[in-house]
This record gives sequence, structure tokens and C-alpha cells, in this order.
Amino acid sequence: MPGQITVVVATRSVGKLRELVPLFAAADYRCITLEQAALAESPEEASLEAFDTFEANALAKARWFSARSGGRVVVADDSGLEVDALNGAPGVRSKRWSGREDLQDDALDAANNAFLLRSLEQVPLADGEPRLARYVCAAACVWNGGELVVRGTCEGEIVAVPVGSGGFGYDPYFFSNELGRTFAQATREEKSLISHRGRAFARLIAAMTGALQRETSMDLTDPHG
Ligand code: IMP
Repeated sequence: MPGQITVVVATRSVGKLRELVPLFAAADYRCITLEQAALAESPEEASLEAFDTFEANALAKARWFSARSGGRVVVADDSGLEVDALNGAPGVRSKRWSGREDLQDDALDAANNAFLLRSLEQVPLADGEPRLARYVCAAACVWNGGELVVRGTCEGEIVAVPVGSGGFGYDPYFFSNELGRTFAQATREEKSLISHRGRAFARLIAAMTGALQRETSMDLTDPHG
């Protein structure tokens, strides 16, 4: 049945889209991007992530795009890195942590990574002590009849020297104990199996599929064809 349902994947991040579309395709949903749903980028989007929790931010994004998409099923996420030595920073501020409002994509990632290293230099550790950290992702779904939000996490540590060229954001500095290498060294499939986003969306897809199937009053076919 999911094959009848079109899901708008509400992100402007190319890195997130690359990870999310295959997860929904594997669960037999039809995915479209914000551009394909004719939702052009608006300056208001920058102020959607105003809350202190990943869950509240993910829901705010999904609700905002749902309200503008005329009844489609919309999914969104909010994610970030929590570093123990930095008392959980950057957390929900991960995307704009460097303060460089003028940068996007790879240039923004580079500024954030440089800021991460500078911040960690201020907190010396004993020799060999790992820089424990985790990625967190809240994944939200909003449709005409309801909404859902779930969380996924992935534990690891921050390495001093970046390794790998895949992934995005902080991935070259995030060493996953489960994978035995950084996220930037992993293939998309390897990362998705154990990542915060992979785990959150596996839970979300299971929950939304169940919920949408129970919505007997809802017309499950995409109203936009
Ligand atoms: P947001 O979810 O759009 O607020 O962005 C979260 C930010 O957290 C991204 O811009 C990255 O800096 C970081 N982040 C979240 N997930 C990942 C990931 O899987 N890899 C690398 N960085 C990530």
C-alpha cells in the first residue's frame, strides 16, 4: 500500500536527501522533493528551527511544509551532533554553529568543522581519552489526519584529523564505534544502517505506515496525482 502514497521529503539539504530518498523508496513510498512539490525556498524557513529540542524543530518543519502543500504527506527531520566535552553542544544549533549565516553546503560544513576543532582545543583531555559524541535525529511526519515524531541516535567519538570524503557535515570527524571508521568513510548504505537518521526514519516509516493504514477515513492516494 505505501506505493500509492507520495511523501514530500521536506529538506533543502542535498546530503539529507541523498540518505532519505532510498529509505522511503525501499519501503515502497513515492518520494518527491520540495522543488518537485513546487515549494520554492522562502526566507521564513530559516526561523523554523527555533526550539530547544530536535523533536519540536522536526515537527515545526513538517507542519510548516504540510500547511503549504495542500494535503500531502510531509516528512522532515532535525538533527545534530552532541559532544560530551562541550556539554552537549552544538546540539540543535549544529547547522549554524559557526555563526556563518553567509555560507551554505560544503563551505558551511567546513566552517562548522573548523569551529568544532577550535572549541575542543579549549577543553583538554587526558592522553588517549576519547572525545565522546553522538548524532541525534528526530524524524517527523505530518498528514491530514495526524502527526508523528520519533528519535534515533548513534554513538561515536570526534577524531582530531578528518578521514574520508563521503557523507556531509561533521562526518569526517565522527568516528563510529559500530562501523570502526568515520561516517565519511562509510558507504551510504553502511551509514544508513546504523546512523541517527537511518534509525529515526526506520522507526518513522514503520509507525507512519501503520498509522496511515489505520486511517480508514483518509484517501491514501496522493490528491495531486
Ligand atoms: P538541521 O537538521 O537541518 O538543523 O541540520 C543539522 C546539522 O547537523 C547539519 O547541518 C550538520 O551540520 C549536522 N548533521 C546532522 N546530521 C548529520 C550527519 O548525518 N552527518 C553530518 N552532519 C550532520
